[in-house]
Amino acid sequence: MPSLNDFSKSLSFSRRSFLRSASSAVLVAPILTEAHFARAAMGAAAVPEFSMSGIYLDANENPLGPSDAARKAIADILPNGGRYAPPLYFSLMKMFAEQMGVPADYVMVYDGSSPPLHYASLAFTSPTRSFVCGNPTYEAGQRAAEIAGAKIHAVPLAKDYSHDVAAMVKADPAAGLIYICNPNNPTGTCTSKEQIDFAVANKPAGSVLLIDEAYIHLSDTASAMDHVKAGKDVIILRTFSKIYGMAGIRCGFAIARPDLLKKLEHYGQSPMPITGMIAAQASLMDADLVPARKKLIADTRNKTFAWLKANNYSFIPSESNCFMIDVKRPGPQIRTLMAKDDVHIGRSWAAWPTYVRVTVGLPSEMEAFQTSFKKAMDTPATAWNGMRRSREYKDGIHA
Ligand code: PLP
Repeated sequence: MPSLNDFSKSLSFSRRSFLRSASSAVLVAPILTEAHFARAAMGAAAVPEFSMSGIYLDANENPLGPSDAARKAIADILPNGGRYAPPLYFSLMKMFAEQMGVPADYVMVYDGSSPPLHYASLAFTSPTRSFVCGNPTYEAGQRAAEIAGAKIHAVPLAKDYSHDVAAMVKADPAAGLIYICNPNNPTGTCTSKEQIDFAVANKPAGSVLLIDEAYIHLSDTASAMDHVKAGKDVIILRTFSKIYGMAGIRCGFAIARPDLLKKLEHYGQSPMPITGMIAAQASLMDADLVPARKKLIADTRNKTFAWLKANNYSFIPSESNCFMIDVKRPGPQIRTLMAKDDVHIGRSWAAWPTYVRVTVGLPSEMEAFQTSFKKAMDTPATAWNGMRRSREYKDGIHA
């Protein structure tokens, strides 16, 4: 069977070219996704070829992969892989709409939640309509808004690491899009339903709230779906890349009033992978999947937190599949040291340059993480090298 490396080479899609597209952000700032940010943060020297042989805790992926039911559905539909299969689009959107309790035309399927995130930023921001977000938060929406020529208001998270919605709604009366990532990437912290309700009630007229619920199934926090049902200016994003383990299979949804969804249509829609649609459908029909995986990931995360606490490391308690540790030195130093053990942790954000983001992996992977992390932390810190101020640092690109 060809390896992933052979596959990459045969498509002329080497890790180097992938990195180059990520690194070119320094010059032209293209819209990037978690995968670009994570791989770019590794640094060109750290991993000579793309490979899945190490331990990857750097991209908020789910090492469990698709559920058994989803795998079977993929295998069964493969002979039809030569088809575009439009009827599947409609049956999947109908099923999801029914589960969410919204009309079918309130749902649009995409190949992940990245496309509607980018499109919403492009559609609702401009040189006169700004983008408001938390800081730190997931960067992709901001990137798209920068391309739209929008001013960015990055509002520091509140003391409890929730979004400071009171400050966000006041940031700019001409805001076009207010982005709330709940739970937040990279902190894994939640913004309460009361705070979301406050944002809906107090946002500037004419602005749209984009609530990114990529990680919602991993936490106990409430969805903002009731605001979509009530016809508010709210777009919710959902993905199958996280709890459902389908980042490489691709499926996601935008859920909103039809007139808001219509504004995203302008940017098009890539054809959906037939495998992604059928696996999503199988996942939605599996009532045990979400609770079982939520518990496994929470147990692994909490065990890791107990270890961090016992060793006096400072971290932010998270309710998701990622968390941040304050390594008390430039984050890339620890990431680079751990990469030598083939343990790849996540990037740092300019707002918190001494924090690194770690994705919760399998229990065995988190044991390897503990060994490698302690070894790295026991290594004396080297001098600050000014990465904090550079765009490279901001994007986690420091090769
Ligand atoms: N939103 C958030 C908060 C994310 O962290 C990610 C990826 O990590 C995405 C959206 C995009 O995910 P995908 O396009 O795989 O659905």
